[in-house]
Amino acid sequence: MSNLLIVGPPGAGKGTQAARIAEALGIPAVSTGDIFRQNIKDQTELGQRVSAILDAGEYVPDSLTNELIDDRLAQADAEQGYLLDGYPRTAGQVEFLDGVNLRRGEQIDAVIRLVADTDEVVRRLAARAQEQGRSDDTEDVIRHRQEVYERETAPLIAIFAERGLVVEVDGMGAVDDVTERILAGLAERAITA
Ligand code: AMP
Repeated sequence: MSNLLIVGPPGAGKGTQAARIAEALGIPAVSTGDIFRQNIKDQTELGQRVSAILDAGEYVPDSLTNELIDDRLAQADAEQGYLLDGYPRTAGQVEFLDGVNLRRGEQIDAVIRLVADTDEVVRRLAARAQEQGRSDDTEDVIRHRQEVYERETAPLIAIFAERGLVVEVDGMGAVDDVTERILAGLAERAITA
C-alpha cells in the first residue's frame, strides 16, 4: 500500500521510470498529461475542453484536473495505491489530493524527485529534436522549458520537503541503474512491493 508522486524535469526519463516503479510495486502509474492527451486523441468531451489549453502549454483548470484525478483514483486498480506523474502541479491540487487521501484514511507516502544535470538534459533533448527535424526546438527553447519547470515545481517540492517526503534520486545514467536507485530509496522508507 503506497501512494507516491514522481517529479523531474522534462527529458529526465520520468515517464519511463514511473512505469517501471509502478510495475515493481504493483500500483498504477497515473499521468494527467497522458490522460489529457488520450482524451484529445479520442475526441471525448473532456478532450475537446482541454485541447486548446494543452496546445497553448497552459495549465488545465484545477476543477477539471482534480475531478479527473478523483475519478481515476477511485478505480479498482488504485485501491492498493498509486504513482502520480504530473499531478499535483498547483497548491490547490495538493490540497485536493490531501482531501482525497484523508477520505481514504491514507496519505502521500513519498515523493520521488529525479535530479538531472540541466546541461546534459538540454544537450540530449536538442540532439533528439534535431534528429526528428523539430528545428524550432532550439537549445534556448528547451532550456527555457527547464527553467519554467524549476520555477513551477520549486514551491511544491518545498511543501513536500517540509513534510519530510522527498526521496531525491540521481536520474542520470542507465535506465536500469536509475530504477534500482529509486527502489532502494523507497525501500529505505519501508516502501516495497
Ligand atoms: P505533461 O505531459 O505532464 O507535461 O502534461 C501535458 C499538459 O497537460 C500540460 O502542459 C498541461 O496543459 C496539462 N496538464 C497535465 N497535468 C496537469 C495538472 N496537474 N494540472 C494542470 N494541467 C495539467
